[in-house]
Amino acid sequence: MAKKILVVEDEKKLVAILKGYLEQAGFHVVTASDGEQALAVFRHEKPALVLLDLNLPKLDGLDVCRALRKESNVPIIMVTARVEEADRLIGLELGADDYITKPFSPREVVARVRAVLRRAEGEPARAETFVAGELTLDLAKHSVRLKDREIELTPTEFDLLTVLMQNPGRAFTRLQLLDRVQGEAFEGYERTIDAHIKNLRQKIERDPKNPRYILTVFGVGYKFAEDV
Ligand code: CA
Repeated sequence: MAKKILVVEDEKKLVAILKGYLEQAGFHVVTASDGEQALAVFRHEKPALVLLDLNLPKLDGLDVCRALRKESNVPIIMVTARVEEADRLIGLELGADDYITKPFSPREVVARVRAVLRRAEGEPARAETFVAGELTLDLAKHSVRLKDREIELTPTEFDLLTVLMQNPGRAFTRLQLLDRVQGEAFEGYERTIDAHIKNLRQKIERDPKNPRYILTVFGVGYKFAEDV
């Protein structure tokens, strides 16, 4: 069955182009042209991924992202014409999985959609469980538990935690982590990892400011604690 993609964009021309390319790539496309409609369509259609423009009438993209994250871990790709780093980071802090800056090529959009969906579905189940302290990550079930509580992670957060937990004690640079979780890494985007790490810490650490699991390696990047 064709995967359903929700395209949220107020520029009609752009919607038509994106819809055309995504449908050609085998996706089923539903659309919304403002933030409020986006939430309504999302609840009704339950898409597999949301392509979300930042600059929208009524609720803007960041508000929509925030609202979606309250009720769902659906993969979200933000689309933005504002190139400031701050905006990109805010999108990721709110739990978006990736972002694309305008102007983009529709081919690039299709490639990113495929990549994010692939990550969200996870690789074929491997029977592997990683345990550290009160934290358990189960690759096959694609689940993370803290003590007995299930922790909801976005696809990017899950991948990031997996890479780190699989290699306790190993320090990764931001660029290496970006490459591991996105399958590609562009210089200048490394700081986006900080936003994901911050979110992860808020979800898994008792005291995110004084982390026990994900440690900062000054001058390098991050590592998972060896002895927890
Ligand atoms: Ca727009």
